[in-house]
Amino acid sequence: MYNFEDIWKKIKSTLQTEFDNDIYNEHFAEINNVFRVNNNLVYLIAPNSFIKNKIENFYINRLNYYLNNFVEEKYLFKIITKEQAAIEISKEQPYEINKPEENLENKYKTGLNNTYTFDNFVVGSSNRLAYTSAMKVADQPGIFANPLYIFGDVGLGKTHLMECIGNYALENNINLKVLYVKTDQFIEDYASAAQNKTFDNFSKKYEDIDILLVDDIQFLSGKNKTQLEFFKIFEKLKDNNKQIVITSDRPASDLYDIMSRLTSRFEWGLSVDISKPNLDHRISILKKKLSIETSDPELISEDILEYIASVFDNNIRELEGALKRVLFYCTAFNYKFTIENTKDALKNLINSKNIGSKDIDRNNYNNILDIVSNYYNINTSDLLSKKRQKKYVFARQISMYIIKDLYDLTFKRIGQIFNGRDHSTVIYGIEQISNYIQTDESVKKDVDKLLIKCGKK
Ligand code: ADP
Ligand code: MG
Repeated sequence: MYNFEDIWKKIKSTLQTEFDNDIYNEHFAEINNVFRVNNNLVYLIAPNSFIKNKIENFYINRLNYYLNNFVEEKYLFKIITKEQAAIEISKEQPYEINKPEENLENKYKTGLNNTYTFDNFVVGSSNRLAYTSAMKVADQPGIFANPLYIFGDVGLGKTHLMECIGNYALENNINLKVLYVKTDQFIEDYASAAQNKTFDNFSKKYEDIDILLVDDIQFLSGKNKTQLEFFKIFEKLKDNNKQIVITSDRPASDLYDIMSRLTSRFEWGLSVDISKPNLDHRISILKKKLSIETSDPELISEDILEYIASVFDNNIRELEGALKRVLFYCTAFNYKFTIENTKDALKNLINSKNIGSKDIDRNNYNNILDIVSNYYNINTSDLLSKKRQKKYVFARQISMYIIKDLYDLTFKRIGQIFNGRDHSTVIYGIEQISNYIQTDESVKKDVDKLLIKCGKK
């Protein structure tokens, strides 16, 4: 476990050098301890609510940036006041009187699968915005963004993330009423209410709620009456500042056969997408799943995890299925965890996949290095050298970016290609180019051209 007290001290000294004395003394000097760490939130107590608001408005991103230099990026700072801290502490007192009623949990935790938590959700660039937004919504339901609309292809973690919100919010406040429902279920509930004339029950179920989580909203397509009913519920919840979270396989604007007054409301709050994870991210997910499945996280070597992650690159559900299969195959037959046995275990799954197409040999990336160096009028050896002049560094970063884009090698592997550079140098280089692409049209054009020259289809 991390030592957050220590980390906070280190961050404080960085803040002290970064900011003028006045600013530092006013905002940070008095915060001596970490109040608690709960659900990936690191609580700090601000001296008063004025300072709390100022930190939240001006400095929180900086604080989180420093925090992420020390710990996994999923941890975030949360600033509270002394009064809020006192309330938190009083909640912990085991007064009988404060005890939740029997079965309260069951009553309100409807439909949620409590294995889906923020803690076992692995964050990477493909889902970072969705994750951070979900955390904030869970922390401040009805306030931060309403509705929160999460979209993306199948098997990429939408349901997981949505359920995290419900589980987290309930853990924070057992009295909340949280309902998770698949859209199919909603449609069925409405049909049976219509048939049996039990609208009262139906309304109570969906309107007497603090957080409504509706999964796979695209299935409302073509169901006009149900859409109208959902529209009414949406309006009511939203008017009462109750949180709504929706997932879908596509952006709201692309929903098919759903009335526009609904789709336009989906865009009122915040829309975030989840895309496919890259190879490093997939390996991290496998490590996480392995640590959940077994007591020995070293059981399967990194090479094997990398192999599995490189084959199953489309969908996290399949990735997870492959890992379970390897685990089962080797433990059931008492085989060693080797690449050969892994391939055997996955034979049937792999045959149906087009593997090999992503295999890269030296010729492929030598080719990329030639094309890039030619384009920038430098020698190929300069790309691999330690020369620090801007034109070399830039062309080197472009090459890293292109190799990652075309072959999705791990950052570590790319570092090896570039003369054993550290993986953090590669990550930095690729991020630099991603930033340029967004801010500088000419870099974007160059990269597009180069990608095509290097064989991108
Ligand atoms: P979707 O709803 O987008 O189809 P799910 O939420 O059902 O996808 O995710 C499929 C599987 O992948 C689940 O078992 C889920 O736990 C796992 N998964 C998805 N994203 C992540 C992630 N970032 N970290 C860990 N597990 C993930
Ligand atoms: Mg789902």
